[in-house]
Amino acid sequence: MHTCLNCNRSENEMPLINLQYKGEKLYICSGCMPVLLHSPAKLAGKLPDAEKIQPAHHDH
Ligand SMILES: [Zn+2]
Repeated sequence: MHTCLNCNRSENEMPLINLQYKGEKLYICSGCMPVLLHSPAKLAGKLPDAEKIQPAHHDH
């Protein structure tokens, strides 16, 4: 069973999105996806080099 890399909720609790990253398959839940998009540095320690990921551009 897969779990979210950020909150560790399982695929039975939340929809998980499959990520390909650095040759690995990682999973993040729909609740944490906005963190990855807008504040990836918050995932530092959970996702390798998270602090180097550019946040997605957005208008607000
Ligand atoms: Zn999550």
